[in-house]
Amino acid sequence: MDLEIEGRVAVVTGAASGIGRATARRLAREGCHVVAVDLEAITIDTDELGESAIAVEADISDPDCVRRIFSTTVTAFGRLDILVCSAGVFETTGPLDLSADEWDRIHSVNLRGAFLCAQAAAPVMSRTSWGRIVLLSSMAAQTGGLAAGAAYVSAKAGVMGLTRSLAIHFGHLGITVNCVNPGTIETPMTAYVEREALAARTPLRRNGTPEEVADMIAVLSSERSSFVTGAHLSINGGLVAD
Ligand code: NAD
Repeated sequence: MDLEIEGRVAVVTGAASGIGRATARRLAREGCHVVAVDLEAITIDTDELGESAIAVEADISDPDCVRRIFSTTVTAFGRLDILVCSAGVFETTGPLDLSADEWDRIHSVNLRGAFLCAQAAAPVMSRTSWGRIVLLSSMAAQTGGLAAGAAYVSAKAGVMGLTRSLAIHFGHLGITVNCVNPGTIETPMTAYVEREALAARTPLRRNGTPEEVADMIAVLSSERSSFVTGAHLSINGGLVAD
């Protein structure tokens, strides 16, 4: 399938690890110019992302950092076509033990960060009347959390609502907004989760790889999903039905 995104400019957050890293590599393979964003940008290997790739160190929960991500992108490439918000943080705390600070930390990255990035990206994308925004929700938003705690679950449920809201508001600008809901994916984020037990309950009898999520994100970032917006795509080996 030709995704027809060669030459497109893509900002990928959380690009130092896991799904974000796999997505940055996938989009680079399709010929995109990649802006790889992470708190830990020092660990981003831009050599694997093509000659034009740049790394930006930024905290996506901080509005000043977010403004810098997009001004750097426009200075470097003059445009923005694709935004993938993969930066995220996880927690497994029971609701009775969850502090207000932990609640805020989890929401500030997973939900506020996604919102700030999308809010900053849309005006730049609207200049060309073409944009693709893909947010990372989670299977946890659908199940209530097989391993995740209440702060993570509610932040990711918020991402699903945010996706629908932004799809309505950005549609007339030529921008689609969708989210993916991965199940258990083998990345550093789930290293301390009981992955084997979850794999055993999954119809495909295994967990997913970051590359399998990146493939679906690439399709949602492409010309091949031109009439898809406000949608969520479950990528969970069949563990949870929509
Ligand atoms: P990961 O921990 O491997 O990577 C997350 C990256 O986000 C890290 O490089 C981290 O430095 C970066 N990051 C964290 N806070 C940041 C901030 N404030 N600003 C900028 N960067 C920040 O995680 P992953 O498994 O690749 O997860 C990627 C996304 O997918 C997350 O949003 C996660 O919630 C979601 N997700 C993951 C799974 C899974 O099973 N791994 C399942 C469902 C959803």
